[in-house]
Amino acid sequence: MSKKVKIGNLIIGGGEKIAIQSMSTFKISSVDRAIEECNRLKNLGLDIMRFSVTDELDAKSFSLVKKGTSVPLVADIHFDYKLALKAIDGGADKIRINPGNIGGEDKVKAVADALKANNIPVRVGSNTGSIDKEFLAKYGKNEVSLGESALKNVAILEKYGVDNIVISVKASSVPLCVKAYEYIAKRTDYPLHLGVTEAGTEYNGVIKNSIGIGSLLLNGIGDTLRVSLSADPAREVVAGRAILSALNLINDRVEIIACPTCGRCQWDCMNFAKKVEEYTANIRKPLKIAVMGCVVNGPGEASDADLGIAGGKDCCVIFVKGEIKRKVSLEEVEREFFKEIDKCLQ
Ligand code: SF4
Repeated sequence: MSKKVKIGNLIIGGGEKIAIQSMSTFKISSVDRAIEECNRLKNLGLDIMRFSVTDELDAKSFSLVKKGTSVPLVADIHFDYKLALKAIDGGADKIRINPGNIGGEDKVKAVADALKANNIPVRVGSNTGSIDKEFLAKYGKNEVSLGESALKNVAILEKYGVDNIVISVKASSVPLCVKAYEYIAKRTDYPLHLGVTEAGTEYNGVIKNSIGIGSLLLNGIGDTLRVSLSADPAREVVAGRAILSALNLINDRVEIIACPTCGRCQWDCMNFAKKVEEYTANIRKPLKIAVMGCVVNGPGEASDADLGIAGGKDCCVIFVKGEIKRKVSLEEVEREFFKEIDKCLQ
């Protein structure tokens, strides 16, 4: 079991719920927009939001954004230890930095002291672009060099008494990424932040992250995740929830079952399934809804759905646990089915 680490009002690790993270595509110094973004994504299931910190104004903005959202905020800093100190001072709930690349021991000590004084955690780690030169020469680009690079960053902080640590070892190759997390999970009990880095645009990125993050979580590895996508961060959050839901790790999501359709389908089943998905996207309750292509087989094939719809030539049937309740015409199907969904959610 991994250690517990507190980020703002949230605990990760130690068997707590797997926290979903995302990262803003704009700067935190756009304070009002940052608040809106955190709250928009929170409604979709976001647990932790990360912002890059590139100047002093960013570092100072954390306390202002925290006035408008309860989402714990992470400051992502590269190289500049002074910005790390300012972000900690400015109210960040967690820091993402690698102590190996911020300069001398005095700088590492200053950051370590600030982390301890404010009792906030830090994420350290490695990715295939930041493997320590020594390990790269010794092992090549593989799970050992990735894992050992991350552990080296951990050791630097531990030397100065920091033990409030989260680790990541990211790669864009799914097999390498999985092996690296497996490698490090055997060697540490700090919580692990999962993700396949630079995973790409939504379709391929979701596939890569689902396989990588999913196989690790199935084996009990990982405490928090980010599905990194070249897409609206909302899609990262939705994908994160879908992964956790598919693994039965959360039960607060509307699951849409939809048949692939075949020659028996006589209505626009696929488009209707999309509409139902959009209608229920923000709902945080467990409900299984089926959208099926034909009346003959649909209700039977989706008999475990809490609520379902199956189409015929001129009308649809609404069914509950496989039992047909009523018929609706194609003209009124959307209004009537959404009414039924609302009733289920009351
Ligand atoms: S539910 Fe009907 S339309 Fe859908 S795949 Fe099964 S048989 Fe085909």
